[in-house]
Amino acid sequence: MAVVRLGRTAAKNVRGSMYEVFLLEKERLFPWLDEIRRGRVMVGPVEEQGFPAFREPSSTHDLWLDYGLTMMGPQTCIYHLTEKVCTIQRTDEGFEIDDTVTAQDQLLVGVHSCDLHAILVLDKAFLRGRVIDRNYRIRREKTVVVGYHCTSVCSQCFCASMGTGPFFEPREGYDFLLTDLGDRYMLEALGERAHGMVAPLRLHKAEEKHFREKEELRQQLLGQFTKRLDTSRIVEIILRNQNHPVWRRTADERCLSCTNCTKVCPTCFCYSTRDLGDFELKKWDRTRAKDSCQELHFAEVHGSNFRGIRAARLRQFVTHKLATWWEQFGCFGCIGCGRCMTWCPTHIDLTHMAKEIMATEGLGMR
Ligand code: SF4
Ligand code: SF4
Repeated sequence: MAVVRLGRTAAKNVRGSMYEVFLLEKERLFPWLDEIRRGRVMVGPVEEQGFPAFREPSSTHDLWLDYGLTMMGPQTCIYHLTEKVCTIQRTDEGFEIDDTVTAQDQLLVGVHSCDLHAILVLDKAFLRGRVIDRNYRIRREKTVVVGYHCTSVCSQCFCASMGTGPFFEPREGYDFLLTDLGDRYMLEALGERAHGMVAPLRLHKAEEKHFREKEELRQQLLGQFTKRLDTSRIVEIILRNQNHPVWRRTADERCLSCTNCTKVCPTCFCYSTRDLGDFELKKWDRTRAKDSCQELHFAEVHGSNFRGIRAARLRQFVTHKLATWWEQFGCFGCIGCGRCMTWCPTHIDLTHMAKEIMATEGLGMR
């Protein structure tokens, strides 16, 4: 395991801008992944009790590349759900802080288009503001990301409506992107690091006809979506309807404040920190853990709570994902993965709430 100390080089963009597209014979994928996983921990979709989950497969052959939807997204191996931030030690002179970050080189395989977008959203939250999140930055840079385009559409997925799928369009945020063309893969390589890793394969470049094949696949997938959301005016509509009865009714009748929706959401990034000290108060470990706006304590400030009722907390979740995220980050906070509604015990669905609001504005439901 490599131990990394914060340094200026950690901020360097390791991906660069080189972009080339190759063809990879199917039987060469696993041997190649075995080659590039050397010295790295590989994380990818595997079967766990009948369901897909991002884990460390013991063998590349355990990868389940045609998986559907995982409960926890792949971003959890970059933004850890809980981690130690530092240790603070009292000394005769004052305090000593050890903020060493342990981060492994990783190969993250099989990331769907929506989840690649979720990682881009987290990049905006953790890397582009006034304060850069050091732990996230180090793990992000030490992670080789291999995207994998979906081969079918899950019933709860609405990525096409959110502009995050089914295929990944931006040329950023990944090292490799695989598309299953039937008898071989299209392999997109982005950045100098990726080119160094793919060069030994001496692959043929993709041609125009292969891009046409890819586009045909994309069109086929677009025809499979059963869940849709009209997002053309959703920001203004949600903001204009903060007192709509749907918030109170849904919250009072169905929401359990269990926080599942925020726990599984791959773009939720809020965390809380806590210090755990020894009895002599000489040494503390500061840890952080993902927090949830659905918790009552979340909005407690100086003895009062500005979201003391459940309806206000549910409204906050949906409003942030579908509207105010734009003001904050210039994009939606929802990538249309369908996790929150899938793992909500009462199946509360933010698209249903949004559609009910639109219906009262005479915009009809789709
Ligand atoms: S709000 Fe729900 S559908 Fe949207 S990204 Fe989060 S978990 Fe996925
Ligand atoms: S998962 Fe469902 S019940 Fe639980 S807090 Fe979220 S909306 Fe409420």
